[in-house]
Amino acid sequence: MTISLAMPTIRQSKPSGEALLDAGVGELRDHTGRVAKDLRVSLTDRCNLRCTYCMPEEGMEWIPTEEVLSDEEVIRLIRIGVQRLGIEQVRFTGGEPLLRRSLEHIIAETAALTTRTKQKPTIALTSNALGLDKRAEALAHAGLDRVNLSLDTLNPQRYKALTRRDRLADAIKGIEAAIDAGLKPVKINTVVMKGVNEDDVLPLARFALEHRCQLRFIEQMPIGPREQWRREDMVTAEAIIATLGTELSMTPSSKPRGSAPAALWQVQAKDDAQLVGEIGVIASVTHPFCGDCDRTRLTTDGAIRNCLFAHAETSLRDLMRDGASDAELAEAWAQAMWPKAYGHGINDPSFVQPERTMSAIGG
Ligand code: SAM
Ligand code: SF4
Repeated sequence: MTISLAMPTIRQSKPSGEALLDAGVGELRDHTGRVAKDLRVSLTDRCNLRCTYCMPEEGMEWIPTEEVLSDEEVIRLIRIGVQRLGIEQVRFTGGEPLLRRSLEHIIAETAALTTRTKQKPTIALTSNALGLDKRAEALAHAGLDRVNLSLDTLNPQRYKALTRRDRLADAIKGIEAAIDAGLKPVKINTVVMKGVNEDDVLPLARFALEHRCQLRFIEQMPIGPREQWRREDMVTAEAIIATLGTELSMTPSSKPRGSAPAALWQVQAKDDAQLVGEIGVIASVTHPFCGDCDRTRLTTDGAIRNCLFAHAETSLRDLMRDGASDAELAEAWAQAMWPKAYGHGINDPSFVQPERTMSAIGG
């Protein structure tokens, strides 16, 4: 079948319909053999924080409402992904996905789907936790399985400076509500920045162990406000592990890593044998995990991106609004995945940051 509607330049490199069949349409396989099973859905590009590494303080250009996928459109594309293309995990993100009032409804509709292996898709949420205290129970009830909550510091002044909003207490309330609602494992995401929150690494580790959460430190990537990222300012995974090692005994986890981005460590506080748990370090820049990547991304305005750092995207929204069938949408999605690059290329001299920032793509 040929798609006659507008496609981006990657069309030239897409294989023929036959080759796609050989490559297995019905799954999201790329030319290197990776198969995407993890769908990241951005539900809004807007946010109630302005984290310095993610957004400028002012001047963000939001996607106009009419360009944003409606609930029905999002749910239709998730259904196509799960039923026709082998998606097994759906993660809702943004911007701040809790700003989408219909989140519970979208999750409930996703939870009603059945994957190829006759399971409910695993449903996850990445959030800054603001307002989660009021919604964690309802979200769990709708079918949400687990959450990744962002927290870069435990210092209220620093939180205010870093997010440009004075909301640390609300974020902690949200994290505690997720734990109480049984959204396990609650994972906490921390981006570490030189001269900003390096001395939060150990307090955050203790906080996570005390709360039985899995903390994951993330290397800052060049996907925020332009011109802001500098390699020499990046705190590497190696430096984070060295800091953790000053107060924690650390053993690499024996669990198979699969496509998970975090290298996991079993840890125990040197001064408190009761303080044990798991800490992850995501070395996206210094040790990229692109070879094991199983992600496909749907932006707020309905474009498929085969990589966070891709420069091409395919608008399923335009196809959908022009009357494409489920089969046509599935084929366009599979075609969009096929040319996925071997790696993000951050470490190549020729690397160019994508036009969209993380909040507009969906982190
Ligand atoms: N608002 C939600 C949140 O903060 O969790 C979801 C969207 S946010 C873009 C998703 C994740 O991306 C967060 O954990 C955030 O810390 C991370 N992030 C944003 N910009 C980043 C950057 N430049 N490098 C590394 N991680 C980044
Ligand atoms: Fe908002 Fe998340 Fe970006 Fe912070 S990292 S500005 S919370 S989207």
